[in-house]
Amino acid sequence: MKILLVEDEEGLILTLTDRLVSEGFEVASVRDGKAGFELASSENFDLIILDLMLPKMNGFDVCRDLRRNEDQTPILMLTAKGETIDKVLGLKLGADDYLTKPFEVMELLARIEALLRRSSVNNGHSEHGFRFGNVAIDFRRAEVKKGSMALELSAMEFKLLQYLVENRGAVHTRDHLLDAVWGYDAMPTTRTVDVHIAWLRQKLEENPKHPQFIQTVHGFGYKFAA
Ligand code: CA
Repeated sequence: MKILLVEDEEGLILTLTDRLVSEGFEVASVRDGKAGFELASSENFDLIILDLMLPKMNGFDVCRDLRRNEDQTPILMLTAKGETIDKVLGLKLGADDYLTKPFEVMELLARIEALLRRSSVNNGHSEHGFRFGNVAIDFRRAEVKKGSMALELSAMEFKLLQYLVENRGAVHTRDHLLDAVWGYDAMPTTRTVDVHIAWLRQKLEENPKHPQFIQTVHGFGYKFAA
């Protein structure tokens, strides 16, 4: 698996390269957006880690131009704290996920794993469904069954469930889920996330009070058990 790292912070380049190499990835790194765009256009990578603020060409423009060229390589955008609107723009421009600095390397690894799994699903290496416990999800039909019974999920419940499942193993803060699932138009609050999580547990978990799959990570948020 080859990863392109486009980042201008020397310390972060060293730390991430070290860690990714030790996890078995092949890593190429460049320090400005223009070089990132050029390398991504000339070589094949399995994933691109793209910083937002970069010399010569920013992460948005790199992302937009790659997508314009029909380059579907998964992009994980790195943003700094407070770049909230920018995060959404990043996703609209075609980034697949984002992570806010500073982050734990473990979290980065979990997101990389999720993106790679998702892109292999999209490439047809895997089915369009997912099963856990006695629940079966059909992503293409947006249907969920528990045993033989079809469950009624609202559109937002389904989107939230899909996001959690596709990124299983990764911990998501409420704010992250709001950005990723709801977007900004609806202006919901983090309470909205808690309510939808509770509804999903009611519908999917054997014991909603002691959820096996949709787990609370105290002090952080939620994750779907890997
Ligand atoms: Ca930067």
